[in-house]
Parts: sequence; structure tokens; C-alpha cells
Amino acid sequence: IRAILLGPPGAGKGTQAGDLSRKYESCHLATGDMLRAEVASGSELGKNFKTDDGRREAQCAKGFILDGFPRTTVQAQKLDTLLEKRKTPLDTVVEFKIDDNLLVRRITGRLFHRESGRSYHVEFNPPKVAGKDDLTGEPLIKRSDDNEETLRKRLLQYHEMTSPLVGYYQKRGVHTAFDASRPIKDVSAEIDALFE
Ligand code: ADP
Ligand code: ADP
Repeated sequence: IRAILLGPPGAGKGTQAGDLSRKYESCHLATGDMLRAEVASGSELGKNFKTDDGRREAQCAKGFILDGFPRTTVQAQKLDTLLEKRKTPLDTVVEFKIDDNLLVRRITGRLFHRESGRSYHVEFNPPKVAGKDDLTGEPLIKRSDDNEETLRKRLLQYHEMTSPLVGYYQKRGVHTAFDASRPIKDVSAEIDALFE
């Protein structure tokens, strides 16, 4: 599958992308994670598609789930050009629709396992052992930008720079949207239905 998950910070994109990429054996490319790991800038995304790492190549051959990219119309246009060259057009752009005010609790309660990028929530998706990753038992961290003040700035930026992509992809006939305010298992079911 070749898909973009589009939505504001905290909408649940990373949570769903993890499951989706396993299910469809597609690469999960989270640009925020890449940038934080200082691996990537916008153009590094292209390199990721044709890396020498055979395993990733094999995975990406089956598809990719983009989460956090593109964020601007310029990035979307560049991505289109790249995908056109590869002859691998997008299947779908899934918009996570959710009210800004619901994102505060999601973001302020978010916890990460740094190594894998897996996220948890103190209230909505607690780890089996408090403060520890389920799979590795390693400690979970809170991102320093996961506070309300920074969230409000990230939301302003999202509405200004990124939400115009809805119209951009609608015109291309690949946009679909759903209500991302429901509990994780309901959202997973909804997304499964969209991808069947
Ligand atoms: P994004 O990748 O869109 O920024 P995340 O997937 O990291 O969002 O989710 C943000 C936080 O909200 C995480 O702590 C996650 O566990 C939690 N979360 C994700 N989806 C839901 C949901 N449907 N309902 C409640 N909490 C959720
Ligand atoms: P958020 O929860 O804010 O969506 P991400 O983990 O996706 O966080 O990204 C963290 C930060 O990295 C963003 O706030 C932004 O400053 C930067 N970033 C991520 N992806 C991009 C991108 N495609 N273009 C420019 N900046 C990006």
C-alpha cells in the first residue's frame, strides 16, 4: 500500500501507522522521527526509498506509509514528482479529523520508546508496566515539545501550512477522511475498513 496519513499532531497517525506498516509489510516513514534522529531533511526522504539496505528496499517495494510528510504544498508537489518518476502513485491520503481541543490531553499524556518510535499514553494507551516499553522493557520518555504551549504553535502551523493539502489531494481524487476522535480500537477498525 502507498499511503499518506494526514492530520494534526496527536491525531493518532503514528499509532495507526505502526500497525498498518506491519499488516501491509510497508515502510513506516515518520519524518519527525527521522529529523529527530538527525538522519533526514525533506530530500533525505527520497534516499530512503532507494537505500542500499536491501531489507528496507524489499519492504518499501511493497509500499510505504508516510506520517508527518508532506507538510506543505511544495513538499507534496516534490513528492508527486518523485512518485511519478518511480511510477508508484499514491493509493490514498487518509485525513485524521479531530477537534484541536481534544489534542491537548493526547499530547500531554504521550510517552515514547525512543529506539522504536512506539508511542503510549498514560491514560488512553498505558504500557503494561508503568514507564516501560511493552516489548523491550526499556524506559519511556516524554518529548520536550509535548506540552500545551508548543502544541498550540504546532497546531497554528498545521492549519496554515498543512491543512491546504486536503484540497490538493481532493483534486487528485485520492483523499479520504474519518473521525479520529474515537478510541484507538475504533479508529483501527475504521482504518482497516478503508484499506480493505
Ligand atoms: P500523531 O502521530 O498523529 O502525532 P500519536 O499516534 O503519537 O499521534 O498519538 C498521540 C497520543 O494519543 C499518543 O499518546 C497515543 O497513545 C494517543 N492516541 C492515539 N490514538 C488515540 C485515540 N484514538 N484515542 C485516544 N488516544 C489516542
Ligand atoms: P508533530 O507531532 O509536531 O507532528 P513530528 O514528530 O511529526 O511532530 O515532527 C516534529 C517536528 O519536526 C515538527 O514539529 C517539525 O518542526 C519538524 N518536521 C517534521 N516533519 C517535517 C517536514 N516534513 N517538514 C518540515 N519540518 C518537519
